[in-house]
Amino acid sequence: MKYIDEFQDPELARRLLDEIRATVTRPWALMEVCGGQTHTIIRHGIDQLLPPEVELIHGPGCPVCVTPLEVIDKALEIASRPGVIFCSFGDMLRVPGTDRDLFQVRGQGGDVRVVYSPLDALRIAEQNPDREVVFFGIGFETTAPPNAMTVHQARKLGIRNFSLLVSHVRVPPAIEAIMRSPDCRVQGFLAAGHVCSVMGTAEYPELAARHRVPIVVTGFEPLDILEGVRRTVLQLERGEHTVDNAYPRAVLPGGNPAARAMLDDVFEVTDRAWRGIGVIPDSGWRLSERYREHDAEHRFSVEGIDTREPAECRSGEVLQGLLKPHECEAFGTTCTPRSPLGATMVSSEGACAAYYLYRRLDLGTPSPKSPAADSAALEGSSVV
Ligand code: SF4
Repeated sequence: MKYIDEFQDPELARRLLDEIRATVTRPWALMEVCGGQTHTIIRHGIDQLLPPEVELIHGPGCPVCVTPLEVIDKALEIASRPGVIFCSFGDMLRVPGTDRDLFQVRGQGGDVRVVYSPLDALRIAEQNPDREVVFFGIGFETTAPPNAMTVHQARKLGIRNFSLLVSHVRVPPAIEAIMRSPDCRVQGFLAAGHVCSVMGTAEYPELAARHRVPIVVTGFEPLDILEGVRRTVLQLERGEHTVDNAYPRAVLPGGNPAARAMLDDVFEVTDRAWRGIGVIPDSGWRLSERYREHDAEHRFSVEGIDTREPAECRSGEVLQGLLKPHECEAFGTTCTPRSPLGATMVSSEGACAAYYLYRRLDLGTPSPKSPAADSAALEGSSVV
């Protein structure tokens, strides 16, 4: 299959691994930013094939996982209100809030619907003019443009009963926050290729220079990851710290100008809380003043929510690369994809889910009665 098979070629993978082995002379810790990359790494055992000197640390790049519990609780509150149709991608329905999830809201009579595009939600609003339709807009620079475009379209068509519950986040400020952390061990980044396909690479050179850290834009197939690791290790061994695009088939330096223009029109940059990390300055978007009437938080005024993080879930440490999922005591016992305690076990891009699905036997975790059911539990995600 074009653009799949050639990036999974075992012979080429062996050659790249040989080059990495021949290059590395001492330990290096690299962070893959995106959860999609984490899943490729764990699914194909890339971390185990690499020489022991190269450690891969899993980054916070999973849109479902970084959505703060407070926003989940706000979604639950809005979805419970009479007259509301609450629309979301599938995986958000299973993320536990403080005391329930969106599936339970639906079971209690709430009109919660799974959609595959924000435009589906806009269509529902058009067909139900006497109801309030809310779309749960989460994710990185990848999902923000279609959500922005949908709000733009709602305004253009005069569909006033459509609003967005916004929790969009931006990657470069998160890299900044990770590098500033006193516990940071990261020496090089595999940047998320799909984010750069939208935003381009202009935000990274200054970051790379200031923190003296190589940033290599990387795709999502096994050879993409290996090539990203090879280029990052090469820079580290040479004492270099520049931005390198190892995903040129998808990433242009200027990104996608149409998508960026839509973001600039509809959103404005704001501080955002990241789950398990806290507030990162300028790390998110909110609807700009011009589009405020389509902001669900503004429309429904959901204040005073009592949010309580589950004590046993250590996803905050997982998201910062301080803890590997299987080091959490609940992993595979009280926390599984079918019965998750945290978003990192729910999401199809979550690190805990990756370890559970692809490495449970190596870790001595009891094999689930129905692995297929666990895989199915993670299907239906449309968030990237
Ligand atoms: S295994 Fe479960 S409880 Fe532990 S950090 Fe991951 S999601 Fe949280």
